[in-house]
Amino acid sequence: MRTVSFADGFKGWRNAARVLLAYKIAPHDIEWQEDGKSSALLWDDHKIDWQTMGASAPKLGLNVSRRFLDMAEAVSFHRNPEKWQLLYSLIWRLTYENPKLLDLSIDEQVQSFLSMEHSVRRDAHKAKAFVRFRKIEQAEGDLYCAWHEPEHPLLAYVAPFFQDRFSVMKWTILTPDQSVHWDGSVLKWGPGCSQEEGPKGDTLEDLWGCYYKSIFNPARVKLKAMRSEMPKKYWHSMPETQLIEELIFESDARVDAMIRATPASAADFIPLVKDLETLRAALPSCSACDLCAKATQGVFGMGNPRAKLMLVGEQPGEREDEIGLPFQGPAGQLLQSVLDKASLGRDEIYMTNAVKAFKHRREGKRRIHEKPTPREVGTCKAWLQAELASVKPTVVLCLGLTAALAVLGQSVRLMDVRDKVLDVGNGLKVIVTHHPAHILRIQDGEEKAAALLELESALQLARDLSLA
Ligand code: SF4
Repeated sequence: MRTVSFADGFKGWRNAARVLLAYKIAPHDIEWQEDGKSSALLWDDHKIDWQTMGASAPKLGLNVSRRFLDMAEAVSFHRNPEKWQLLYSLIWRLTYENPKLLDLSIDEQVQSFLSMEHSVRRDAHKAKAFVRFRKIEQAEGDLYCAWHEPEHPLLAYVAPFFQDRFSVMKWTILTPDQSVHWDGSVLKWGPGCSQEEGPKGDTLEDLWGCYYKSIFNPARVKLKAMRSEMPKKYWHSMPETQLIEELIFESDARVDAMIRATPASAADFIPLVKDLETLRAALPSCSACDLCAKATQGVFGMGNPRAKLMLVGEQPGEREDEIGLPFQGPAGQLLQSVLDKASLGRDEIYMTNAVKAFKHRREGKRRIHEKPTPREVGTCKAWLQAELASVKPTVVLCLGLTAALAVLGQSVRLMDVRDKVLDVGNGLKVIVTHHPAHILRIQDGEEKAAALLELESALQLARDLSLA
């Protein structure tokens, strides 16, 4: 067993992993040790310097997707120390065994990886949403100080977000693991501190209270969900939580007022910064129509943020609504088989829906799918447009006519557009075909096979065009 000691978090791990992969040192031969001081390979009691090893390492063209590296970086902030071993096992398997490993959602290591990534991203989202600065007046100018207790030691992961957002303020964020100070030009890191050492109330609290009161959405008061999204441990550091009781009490009257004032477009809820992560984090705030409030959650797109090929469906189904990801249920499985046939991995494309919520009606305990109206498609369209603007695909494959309506801005008939590549300007090409859920509903065997064949050839055509 060799011990790999490394410093500098994910960057240090990635540099070490690159050298170890080149030397084909298998995961079971390595023990990872993050010591925060130096990077070295301890091998049979000899300490070997990375630079020496790296310089003479065999050349290896690492064929690991950007998506994996982005996800791995998030996982590197997980509190579980086994993360480094897991990441190396996965990068080893992606390199030497199966480049499409991440599509195997039944694989135990992939499951742990996805669950750790989800946990860190959720924690990061909470840090961005719930960190509250309190003003400390100083002779040399005001300092804004916040205390926060994340589940994972992810201050370095979220600090760039605060650096961008509050670039002109001097601020400090304290957590039990670490602290960071922004002096207007550089981030400085320090040790963690306890809650008692953190800041107490200030003059900003009234302002936060007014702001929170103005954005509070009474139609969404779900106490259970609120407690799980905003666990009580954060409440003491958040001035607006003092208002929750009062706001809940007033909610009936405010729901009526809100319904009357409901905006007609999701554009009112799109954040100014339009990268996919910011858009995804902002989706739960959307109440441009009542579909998300009636669903379990809004479902944002997923996949490669720089994909050349984007697939657009109609809306999430029941399974997608439950787990919060698109194309997961029976239609998602059929789509997966068509993707496999076209040799396309989910990490090569971006997938989303025209409408972000599962529209349904209740029949007893069952929730029955209902097609969104053109008005609902129009209301929700701003989210799809923001995804298109961020990902910038060259080809969009519309799965079904609802997707075509959202992408083309007009109703079309499949018989008029099938087998055609529509050039919609700005170098974007659009192809329209069947939605896999529609194919699953076809009863007649021959008709079903023909529709499936059409979907397969449309996807292959879209793939070829996106590679051209
Ligand atoms: S369905 Fe779309 S427009 Fe309606 S609330 Fe959800 S995200 Fe907003």
